[in-house]
Amino acid sequence: FGRLKKGISKTSGRIIGGMETIFLGKKEIDEELLDELEELFVTSDIGVSTTMKIIDDLRNDVSRKILKNPQQLKNALKQKLTEILDIDNELVKTDDKPYVILVTGVNGAGKTTSIAKLAKMFKENGMSVMLAAGDTFRAAAIEQLEIWGERAGVPVVKQKAGSDSAAVVYDAVLSAKSKKIDVVIADTAGRLHTKDNLMNELKKISRVVKKEMPDAPHEVLLVLDATSGQNAVAQAKTFGTEIGVTGVILTKLDGTAKGGVIVGIVDEMQLPVKFIGFGESMDDLKPFDAGEFVEALFE
Ligand code: GDP
Repeated sequence: FGRLKKGISKTSGRIIGGMETIFLGKKEIDEELLDELEELFVTSDIGVSTTMKIIDDLRNDVSRKILKNPQQLKNALKQKLTEILDIDNELVKTDDKPYVILVTGVNGAGKTTSIAKLAKMFKENGMSVMLAAGDTFRAAAIEQLEIWGERAGVPVVKQKAGSDSAAVVYDAVLSAKSKKIDVVIADTAGRLHTKDNLMNELKKISRVVKKEMPDAPHEVLLVLDATSGQNAVAQAKTFGTEIGVTGVILTKLDGTAKGGVIVGIVDEMQLPVKFIGFGESMDDLKPFDAGEFVEALFE
């Protein structure tokens, strides 16, 4: 909890610190206060439509005298944020073995690092892990994944750059099956010549994997960089709808005050954030828990 709290302190400073400044010296909730709050939320990357929804609800509660002072307002906000963020975000359950996770997202978002962190997390939970170097578009991506695989102590299935990404992932699934490995985490290209190519490649990987395991991939996780703010929401829109993303890994929460974007991703896109990354070390990834996150934000 301490690591998380520290990791999201910039966002906490912006949102909660900002709220405290607005509330300073105020004993009552007036329209001006609500307007300032609204502006704060929009500039904290919470997103316009989600902000409107929150503020309208609060305004209602104020006029019905349910909320009488800034402290009550603060508590109501905490509760509201928790409710919004608290959508089902458990990993899809299955008896299949291996459990297959495709990881996608634009280059630089933190895919490789997050894959390594996930591998470590699964290992610590007693599961065996294999990585698949499915970003065959960049030689550097294959090397990077190998380095991280070594650090995390997990095998990496790869072919040379330029080879067929779907074939690499398929090989990894077969190999994991024969070795009774629990989890396969596959890297995929973050950029190809065109966006359509990228989407088609992801669809092809899924199609090919299904030949071996009809329910795989069990998870398609989209890695989004929190520092890109509303851009992350835009990417969620593009990827989410086209390739059946099952969840989001939101990275770099430590490097930004734009962590409010998590609210927009969950509320506007109805995409569950399954993991959050809040630092460069292998331990700085956690399954996302709405209650814990909001607690860390407000504390
Ligand atoms: P990829 O191109 O999507 O595979 O991105 P990488 O995994 O190589 O990450 C790009 C950069 O972001 C690297 O310098 C990582 O150390 C950094 N990074 C990834 N996740 C986080 C995070 O949660 N916090 C911070 N501060 N940096 C991160």
